[in-house]
Amino acid sequence: AIAGEIQAQDVDTLKVHMPLCMEHLHNELRREKHIRHFGRMQYGLFLKGIGLSLEQALIFWQIAFEKLKPDEFNKQYAYNVRHSYGMEGKRTDYTPYSCRYIIQNNAPGPGDHHGCPFRHFSAPNLRATMASHQVDDFDTEDILSLVQNRHYQIACTRYYEVTRAKMLDISTENLKGGAMNGGQGNAGMVASLESIEHPNQFFEQSYLLLKG
Ligand code: SF4
Repeated sequence: AIAGEIQAQDVDTLKVHMPLCMEHLHNELRREKHIRHFGRMQYGLFLKGIGLSLEQALIFWQIAFEKLKPDEFNKQYAYNVRHSYGMEGKRTDYTPYSCRYIIQNNAPGPGDHHGCPFRHFSAPNLRATMASHQVDDFDTEDILSLVQNRHYQIACTRYYEVTRAKMLDISTENLKGGAMNGGQGNAGMVASLESIEHPNQFFEQSYLLLKG
């Protein structure tokens, strides 16, 4: 994993590098002290992909579900966490879901927080989410029209560019063209970014870009 082995307590700090789908699950988990099965799968496997070990995952989820007593957590959820790390049942070592999988499978119902915000949020909700991430009106319209044309991953890529450029205080052209550092270095890496294909790709690109 790009960030090395991460600890349960690091996850909140790393949220800045997460795509909207995972950030949303994280926020709802903190707010409700719970998320449902598909959300736990989507977010849990993502966290596994960024370097959360099984031991740390058990700590992370137990603390997150703070309303549960330890033995309740162990009875109801620990098996599933171990299972997703390939330590129970058929011992399948599950890999984090790709964007295509998240966009096409298990559409979220009421009370669910999994899925892809670009695919599954209403337009007003997506607009509000863009505003809360300081995406300006021009870029928001651009992203919304990509979504309207069902280009969800390109919309996510655009969101990545706009928000990371803002974090680095450079233009998106500089971010894409890698003009920073004379075309060398981490900013240039983004030039080859055609489209976000995987939430873990989003995270890794962002982590390298902003840490670098
Ligand atoms: Fe997550 Fe992929 Fe949707 Fe982006 S396009 S929000 S990474 S599922």
